[in-house]
Parts: sequence; structure tokens; C-alpha cells
Amino acid sequence: MSVPHTTLICNQCNASASTLQLDKYRIYLDGGAEVPVRSTFGWCEECASIRPIERFDDAAQVRAELNDIETELNQRSSSWLKRLFNRDLPARSSSLIQLSTKHVTLQHRLALIEKRHGDEACLNCGSRRLLPFTGDYDLELGIDFFYKGSKPTGFFHPGCGGEFIAEGSDIRFHFARITYCYSPVGELLEERRT
Ligand SMILES: [Zn+2]
Ligand SMILES: [Zn+2]
Repeated sequence: MSVPHTTLICNQCNASASTLQLDKYRIYLDGGAEVPVRSTFGWCEECASIRPIERFDDAAQVRAELNDIETELNQRSSSWLKRLFNRDLPARSSSLIQLSTKHVTLQHRLALIEKRHGDEACLNCGSRRLLPFTGDYDLELGIDFFYKGSKPTGFFHPGCGGEFIAEGSDIRFHFARITYCYSPVGELLEERRT
């Protein structure tokens, strides 16, 4: 997979961070379920850098998705009996399994949000010593699928005072297929290579 990205560079000391950090594939391993990790940028005091940190602000969205799935599961289970001898049964039951798996994943995600909202960790080191990243690094995506130009983000380097400048990069990265697996409290457990 290749992704366009932006680099944030301090105009005082040249410290830098790439938005590629946010594009890594991360999951929680939570009691047998694999739950997607949501992330956003933050300032980690421990890493002394802009890092991806956990994000738990999607409760409303997850509840809405859960409701939709529950409605569909209810509808299907009532029609399922009627179609018990239908020839499509294997296909029906495999999509039912997919739906049930999604349902379990979302239930785990909601439980994590309820337990961990306000307890966000740095996804690099697990530290809770974080400051919100308040900068804006959105650049225009060119027709060639690279971010163009540069702009001041409005976020100042803590302890340095320089401002982070967002710069588009014309270097395309190809990601190795690595899944970063975290515990439900945000500790990195393992990196799976597939
Ligand atoms: Zn700096
Ligand atoms: Zn950190």
C-alpha cells in the first residue's frame, strides 16, 4: 500500500514528525476480539515528539452502527427460520457470521470507549503525559496524489517555541504489512508481519 503524507517540521530546531504514523494498521486484542484502534496526533512528553495517540470520541457513531446491525440481525433471524430449507442457506449463514462478528467487535469498541475515554495513551510508548495537538496540517491533495505546498500549522514546539510547518512530500512510502497489536489499556503487545 502506498500513501501520500505530510511532514511537520519545527522551524526553530528541525524536529519532525510524519503523518504516516497515523496510517499504520493498529488493533486492540481484547478477549479474543480484534478491535480497531482510532488515533489522532498529540504531543507526548515522554517521546518528546508529535505522536499518534488513542482516540475515544466515537461513542455516538459506534452506538448508531450497533443499532443498525441489531435491527438487521433481528430481521434476519425472523426470516431465517422461514428460509430454513432455502438453497441459499450457506451464503446466508456466512453473511450472518460476518454481521455477528462485526457486532461483537463494535460491542468491544464501545466498552473500551466507555472505560478508557479520558485515559488516552501514546501509541508509541504508552505514556499518558500528553498534550493535545491543536495544529492544522491539511494540505491540498494534488491530482498526482501527493500533498502540495506547505503551511504553518499553528502548533508550537513545546519547550522549543518554534512552530511546526506542514510540508507535502513527494516521496511515496510503501508500507510493509504490519499489524500493531495493543492491549485494552493501550500497551503495544506485538507487531504481526503477514
Ligand atoms: Zn523545535
Ligand atoms: Zn510517547
